[in-house]
Amino acid sequence: MLLVATDPAFEQHDTGPGHPERARRLAAALEGPTAAGLGDAVRLLEPREATTEELSRVHPVDYLEALERFCAAGGGDIDGDTRASIGSWRAGKLAAGAGMSAIEALRRGEGDAAFLAVRPPGHHALANRPMGFCLINNIAVAAANLAEQGEHVLVLDWDAHHGNGTEAIFWDDPRVLYVSAHQYGSFYPGTGALDDVGGPRARGATLNLPFPSGATGDVYLKALDEVVAPAVEEFVPTWVLVSAGYDAHRADPLTGLRLSSGDFADMARRVARFAPQPGRLVLFLEGGYDLDALTTSVGASLAALLDVPYRPEEATSGGPGAKVVEAARDQRASLNAI
Ligand SMILES: [Zn+2]
Repeated sequence: MLLVATDPAFEQHDTGPGHPERARRLAAALEGPTAAGLGDAVRLLEPREATTEELSRVHPVDYLEALERFCAAGGGDIDGDTRASIGSWRAGKLAAGAGMSAIEALRRGEGDAAFLAVRPPGHHALANRPMGFCLINNIAVAAANLAEQGEHVLVLDWDAHHGNGTEAIFWDDPRVLYVSAHQYGSFYPGTGALDDVGGPRARGATLNLPFPSGATGDVYLKALDEVVAPAVEEFVPTWVLVSAGYDAHRADPLTGLRLSSGDFADMARRVARFAPQPGRLVLFLEGGYDLDALTTSVGASLAALLDVPYRPEEATSGGPGAKVVEAARDQRASLNAI
């Protein structure tokens, strides 16, 4: 059973005309399970709002209050990319709360995994600054609360952009292993270098896979098998959270990566194996700006979690990036030698 969380309030986060991170993305993402024919294997989960206490494990209370006031006053542009509207505060609390609701439902044994069709997305949001379409770092709130309860959390980020906010929040926190595969080199947000491995108390608990434009699915799978799997085996996560952006798809207008929905299915299958048992896997929607690619990629990745053979596109191969995997493997070996 797969739990899918969404809420009409997410559409009230209004980014204005022409913005790629638009409300219609959610409908496109939610068509995925239908297109994949998942039917009875999916159950809707109603998210609750995250509490101030839960949010404040990541964001200072004065930041949260300022954001609430900004939205209540009508919102507006925060930076060149990031906007809030009057509905963004409630949407944000629900987007972060969806993670808490999913964890609670999975702990009650109600599903094998959860997919959160939420917006605004979260992984660029820093503790004290909105960034890159993100206001509250949804996945970080879930990971921080799990860590507080003594859990060991793997955050795997396959969004095309580096999750700079998530990395910064857990930079020196050995309770959270942050793994990101992303496009790198003159590309937003510019962070996520291979040499960035975490702070002095958490060296190796950040693992970056900075891929060149044009990278294909075969390179992602190689990285998951040869670099990420051994790191996960050492870390022994008790929960697996995924920053599931779908903008690495070749049709995406914002990126230069060349994945297909078939690749997302293959990645989802591998990432599910990183969880210690069924019911310890939560996927948070991050980016993904081509509506058709969102539908097929969400559908294919969720179908893979349920072992349903839905593969609207073949896996891709032949792009650059194998050298990044080799360099990452060498670097893990040198970290372990210290
Ligand atoms: Zn992205």
